[in-house]
Amino acid sequence: MNAPVGTLRIHHIEPISRANGPGLRTVIWFQGCTLGCPGCFNPQTHPFEGGEVWTVEGLLQAILPFADRSEGLTLSGGEPLQQGEGLVDFLSQVRRRTPWSVILFTGYTWEEVQTLPWGQAVLDHVDVVIAGRYQAKRRLARGLLGSANKTVHFLTSRYSMADLERVPDSEVMIDSSGMVHISGIDPLHWMRLHL
Ligand code: SF4
Repeated sequence: MNAPVGTLRIHHIEPISRANGPGLRTVIWFQGCTLGCPGCFNPQTHPFEGGEVWTVEGLLQAILPFADRSEGLTLSGGEPLQQGEGLVDFLSQVRRRTPWSVILFTGYTWEEVQTLPWGQAVLDHVDVVIAGRYQAKRRLARGLLGSANKTVHFLTSRYSMADLERVPDSEVMIDSSGMVHISGIDPLHWMRLHL
């Protein structure tokens, strides 16, 4: 079930990450996706019944304390654009209240994004979009591209392709409870090297 109006259904928040965009970034994985890319790395983010429902203001209050340590926000999923109305409200507040850059991962193609009801309104608040379904047969894992069919769109001058190509392809984080999180565009890379 979709989150009620004025709220967002979120899978996970990572306060500080190095492998989800240039520099240190705060990352939000949205909960819920119907696009069904074969071989998706995050199937646990697909059900709209999972995750946690946040009000827009509650989510802002949870992440704003990280703004003095991270240079930007990365939105991933799940499919952020399947919660477009709440996302527009959230991003307009982020732009108004922080100096953060915004990177959006979406499974929709660039052309599909233009046709979504909230597509352009979301893009108005985003610096970089990485668009297109994940295709396991065209796996790439470079420059934040999970597969070769995906396209990158720089909507402001804040970043370049060289910035994306410097991003580490994986990282491992251990939280205060001892839980291990592995993320990045090629999360299995770290496991291949170390396990
Ligand atoms: S759009 Fe993303 S979350 Fe959805 S199925 Fe594709 S890779 Fe998985």
